[in-house]
Amino acid sequence: MLPLLTDFLSYRGRVALHLILHSLGIGSNDEVILQAFTCLAVPEAIMASGAQPVYVDICRNGVNMDPTELAQRISPKTRAVVVQHTFGVPADLGPILDITKGKGIAIIEDCAHTLFSCYRSQRVGSFGEAAFYSFEWGKPLIAGIGGSAVINSPKLQKEAKKSYSRLKKPTGSALKARLQYAAHSLLYRPYLYWPVRDLYHALSSLGLLTGNYNPVNKDVLSEDFSLTMSDFHKKRLLEKLKKVEEITEMQRRVANAYKAGISSNAVTPVAVPVEADTVYARYPLIASDKTELLRQARKARVELAQWYATPIHPLTKEQWSLVHYSAGSCPNAENMADALVSLPINAGVTPRYLDRTFDFLNKMK
Ligand SMILES: *Cc1c(COP(=O)(O)O)cnc(C)c1O
Repeated sequence: MLPLLTDFLSYRGRVALHLILHSLGIGSNDEVILQAFTCLAVPEAIMASGAQPVYVDICRNGVNMDPTELAQRISPKTRAVVVQHTFGVPADLGPILDITKGKGIAIIEDCAHTLFSCYRSQRVGSFGEAAFYSFEWGKPLIAGIGGSAVINSPKLQKEAKKSYSRLKKPTGSALKARLQYAAHSLLYRPYLYWPVRDLYHALSSLGLLTGNYNPVNKDVLSEDFSLTMSDFHKKRLLEKLKKVEEITEMQRRVANAYKAGISSNAVTPVAVPVEADTVYARYPLIASDKTELLRQARKARVELAQWYATPIHPLTKEQWSLVHYSAGSCPNAENMADALVSLPINAGVTPRYLDRTFDFLNKMK
């Protein structure tokens, strides 16, 4: 059902993107377009290839790239566009493909949040030359850490195989990976989100956990980019893949429950393309007062996550220039980062937890 998903398993999603860029021969003097309202992993991979990231704003009230803005950012140096399907909401691929057609620009789909969302009845991840996936915490299939590159273009296969053969197995501690995975399975429950999150941040800053983000440093290429997926994580992924239909059904059920149950004036749903069939990874909501909503959610023990809290999450304004993002260049992304929260979609979202969420949200003004 997901052909090619396990052909090029990598240490992380960003490593898969890097592999794709490398296979396309993209490097210094090239530009790669991506949307603002993304995570650091994406520009990190682009910069690791030597190319320059160029940011495009998102649609107003949406979470994905605005095709009109894309048209304006294409230059003779543009070699690829990373099309992100944020939260599983398909990007507006029709106009994006029209704009890039015949210009020698590769389409790379960022499917970190989605396996089965469709656009015009076609599964996302199958539109571009290549796509990449992530199997980290919070993604639809959790292996712990890991990524995958799917190469759709037959022309690219040979180069991808060559690039992939250079990757090594990670030598990191299997015990640490095992403990981290066990701790997540044991501790993660949506009503424990806030205390567990605080603990996670504390342990990460002590170096006891593998954090999500590498320091931004131009001169040193992270070792991550030379690594495949570990055997431990591959095993976890293959287990999850056996349950992929069940997981997808659960995602649809929980998203539909949120859609039907939320009637709060404090939040509004995000805009989705009309021709989309979305399998949500999380359920995004635009908050009229995000700070207050988060404060109350912590008290009510309701999980409200903040990806992405900045246009290049988790970079603060002072750090944006490190990844070539200039403040004010993508106003919709900046506004969305200030307003967006998202609800969890996973097996821990029980009917009882849904009621807790509705009780909380529907009384917020
Ligand atoms: C998580 C994520 C990535 C990167 O995945 P890693 O496995 O952390 O490298 C890329 N893009 C998006 C949209 C993501 O959410």
